[in-house]
Amino acid sequence: MASTSPGMIQAQEAPFAMAQAQFDTVADRLRLNPSVRAVLREPRRELTVHFPVELDDGTVSVFTGYRVQHNLARGPAKGGIRYHPDVTLEEIKALAMWMTWKCAVVKIPYGGAKGGVICSPKELSLRELERLTRRYTTEISMLIGPERDIPAPDVNTNAQTMAWMMDTVSMHEGYSVPGVVTGKPLAIGGSEGRQDATGRGVVYCIQEAAKSLRLELRDARVVIQGFGTVGEATARFLGELGARVIGIGDSEGSIFRGDGIDLALARRQRQETGSIVGTPRTEAIPRDSLLELDCDILIPAALEGAITARNADRIRTKLLAEAANGPTTPDADEILRAKGVQVIPDILCNAGGVTVSYFEWVQDREAFFWQLEEINARLRRIMTRAFEDAQHMSREHEVDLRTGAYMLAVGRVAEASMTRGIYP
Ligand code: NAD
Repeated sequence: MASTSPGMIQAQEAPFAMAQAQFDTVADRLRLNPSVRAVLREPRRELTVHFPVELDDGTVSVFTGYRVQHNLARGPAKGGIRYHPDVTLEEIKALAMWMTWKCAVVKIPYGGAKGGVICSPKELSLRELERLTRRYTTEISMLIGPERDIPAPDVNTNAQTMAWMMDTVSMHEGYSVPGVVTGKPLAIGGSEGRQDATGRGVVYCIQEAAKSLRLELRDARVVIQGFGTVGEATARFLGELGARVIGIGDSEGSIFRGDGIDLALARRQRQETGSIVGTPRTEAIPRDSLLELDCDILIPAALEGAITARNADRIRTKLLAEAANGPTTPDADEILRAKGVQVIPDILCNAGGVTVSYFEWVQDREAFFWQLEEINARLRRIMTRAFEDAQHMSREHEVDLRTGAYMLAVGRVAEASMTRGIYP
């Protein structure tokens, strides 16, 4: 396929510069109205909070957190909360912008947002994490709400984190507000299927891409970076389809087994030690060599910037499924395209999570809950249609799938913005 992909910038540039460069390329291609372009290029709101948390030893630590809303033209803002020592405002701005495009690709009525707290969650006790979460929620409560901005889990946050956030907002309001967050436990208004939804959506996309590539999933060799919420579920579903997961990496290291890692053993190892490293019947391999293993499907499911100009040339896969947000830098994208690697872009590939988050929010508003079969069937329909729409766009305009997905998404958000007009 001809043409350039969104964002011709260097790998080492910050995530928000990368997100803006991706947007600029598509805005040029769409010949976007200049005023809409100027609006969509920047986040609408950026909130920075510094707040104290009492630690278990009685001392007080001051933490910094963010909540960024990129765009609200198509509906309330939506996006996860990340706890990580490397969180920056630039990163959260990029992730918020990508959420706007992601919601538009799957055509769910949300804008984009993201939040994060700079912290080392592994060094905090459960009680400290609860106090941090409740105070952070309070600090950003001026922005969030079921009609305004709805957080969800992301890296190092989970259903328990969402339960604390929901309870905190409910205590402020004086009544239960389940729709303020998604990814909650089932007991308090969560949805069936939410925990696995991102991984399930990744696999639906892989199934669609495999059709075009004539790639047989049975016995396909799969490598996954990240074995958290998204990576573990993706591995499990691909395993059920008969694929062999030959390599897995997490923040502690990487493991390999040529005829397929026993995923139940990897899960048990993670549960007992916090990492997949040391899983029985696997060999440890150098961390960096994971992404360079010869495989059929490579799935980054950890953090941004995993595949850059430094290692893209050594990637040996037919299909790259971006389960993580922003795992491939634009210059790496160029190299992969030249090598003929098919990429399923993040805003499409991992949109299953926000899609079932939307189902959860709808169920909370109606106080009427659906069966798992119904949720998975609706998820499959939405993901498959989004994949087909992006593929159609990319074929029509002779661009890669990332550019096709971006054109679809940016076009939809631009249309909503222009239809609403500029206030006042
Ligand atoms: P998680 O915290 O559950 O898991 C993250 C995994 O990545 C862990 O296994 C961790 O050890 C690993 N990891 C962290 N740093 C690493 C490194 N330097 N090298 C190798 N592995 C590393 O997070 P998650 O929710 O699974 O999110 C993973 C990615 O998917 C993120 O990019 C996130 O934004 C994206 N995402 C998540 C969801 C969701 O529903 N949770 C939805 C869409 C996209």
